[in-house]
Amino acid sequence: MPVNDLTQDKPSLNFLEQIVTQDLQDNTTGGRVHTRFPPEPNGYLHIGHAKSICLNFGLAQKYNGKCNLRFDDTNPTKEEQEYVDSIKEDVRWLGFDWDDREYYASDYFEQLYEYAVYLIKKGKAYICEMTAEEISANRGTPTIPGKESPWRNRPIEESLDLFARMRHGEFKEGRFTLRAKIDMTSPNMHLRDPVLYRIMHAHHHRTGDKWCIYPMYDWAHGQSDYLEGITHSICTLEFEVHRPLYEWFLNNLDLPNLHPRQIEFARLNLTYTVMSKRKLLSLVQDGLVKGWNDPRMPTISGLRRRGYTPASLRMFAEKVGVARRENMIGVELLEHCVREDLNKIAPRVMAVLNPLKLVITNYPDDSLEYLPAIINPENPEAGTREIPFGKTLFIERDDFMENPPKKFHRLAPGAEVRLKYAYIIRCNEVLKDSNGEISEIHCTYFPETKSGSGNEKKVKGTLHWVHPESSVEVEVRLYDRLFVVPEPEDVEEGKDFRINLNPHSLQVTKAWAEPFIGAAKPGQNFQFERNGYYVADSDSIAYNLVFNRTVALKDTWARMEKTAE
Ligand code: ATP
Ligand code: MG
Repeated sequence: MPVNDLTQDKPSLNFLEQIVTQDLQDNTTGGRVHTRFPPEPNGYLHIGHAKSICLNFGLAQKYNGKCNLRFDDTNPTKEEQEYVDSIKEDVRWLGFDWDDREYYASDYFEQLYEYAVYLIKKGKAYICEMTAEEISANRGTPTIPGKESPWRNRPIEESLDLFARMRHGEFKEGRFTLRAKIDMTSPNMHLRDPVLYRIMHAHHHRTGDKWCIYPMYDWAHGQSDYLEGITHSICTLEFEVHRPLYEWFLNNLDLPNLHPRQIEFARLNLTYTVMSKRKLLSLVQDGLVKGWNDPRMPTISGLRRRGYTPASLRMFAEKVGVARRENMIGVELLEHCVREDLNKIAPRVMAVLNPLKLVITNYPDDSLEYLPAIINPENPEAGTREIPFGKTLFIERDDFMENPPKKFHRLAPGAEVRLKYAYIIRCNEVLKDSNGEISEIHCTYFPETKSGSGNEKKVKGTLHWVHPESSVEVEVRLYDRLFVVPEPEDVEEGKDFRINLNPHSLQVTKAWAEPFIGAAKPGQNFQFERNGYYVADSDSIAYNLVFNRTVALKDTWARMEKTAE
């Protein structure tokens, strides 16, 4: 799949908005715009769902309409209250509100049952005794017509009686199904007498043991939209072929009110990311990640824990837009969006992850001074913080080279750099341990070059640093992509997508950070200067703070965009 070029100018209205605008102009919906976000509570929401949430709630907002939250809970064996709760939390966190419009397909089980009875009475549905295997074996292929069920012309009265008895629990699972009587020769396989109800002696997370027959998703979905007065039923492309079936249901049920208009858009695919809930569940169940909200997961809860903000995900959804054809979005765009937002809101701190001891030989022994630093240059209102500075400091080991190449603007023997918010220093001496490893470096500072003093002395490089004695030692979790290939689901027949997992997706280490960070609360974002964006993790406890790296500072997408200009 081609990676999308998102640098092109977008038309002012996307194709969904054009349809909605036209419908309002033509008054086909009585001036209403009513959408819904319809998750199945069988897993946690992922970034693809975030896209759908922004789309559905966003359209409603834009056209002064409403958006419902509806749980498509028709499969009791896979659905759980835990998922319902997480979905609500995630939608709210993204910044959307369904007011009192929280609905469940299971709220309509009685109505759906009545609708089914209506179809049987019309001679448009029948009780079938074929097993699931037989049904599938007789369905044919798109080019070969299917075979009609021997039970297709069962008398209406008999079907009604059996359907009632199915409901009352007289039969074992698999004994009967209710099927629509449509067309076994239709080129659209979905119209070949689809199953509407199956017997399942299963406990439902909301209706308990009230039902032992459950509607199929296809039977429930369109009618649920209808019952809620949905005007625009937006779904992903794979449902395009289901549309004639949904229309057949609404038409054959003779439903008098406005029929929802189904519009399909391309689902979001992201490079280096797996988006199927079933596959994500397998990672959780097999312990390959630490739960649905592992910061490496593309789930909304994982991204939140990773340090993504609601605004960054909304920005991403906006930039991705809506497409009518399958495409693949580079994950760099998502990373770009979070950098954009965090750049505006994240307080800066200095932290050293891989320290090298630096001694300023001409600095007074027991002196400690507090140097002012801007908390966020993008947000003057954030104010300033004070950073302790003393004779012994840590700098990043990478920022020193004993034999540097030509354009190395950091520290080296004889070189001069600025310590951020502090002074210019010069390196005079390199000390090594018995293994020949550099153990510390000795520098002198130029007192007259204190930041803000107006001194003219210039150097090429500026380094971050900490004063170890006053610093806070924290745990940092350096996350990398969960998969090593751009399309991890693209594996040979019979192979498991998990062969593409990145064995180095998490590296745990330590950092020494300036004291300002000591008050961090879980969920608070920071920029570790010159390094990346980090967020305080919920595993943090007093005196043992944990930070997740959200993303490094380097923005490959912004660079791509620049070169495309
Ligand atoms: P998955 O395939 O990941 O298991 P799903 O489609 O089965 O997802 P649902 O709970 O049925 O998950 O999805 C709820 C809504 O979110 C649907 O309207 C669906 O179209 C939309 N959605 C799911 N995945 C994506 C995606 N990758 N991009 C855009 N919308 C999506
Ligand atoms: Mg689905």
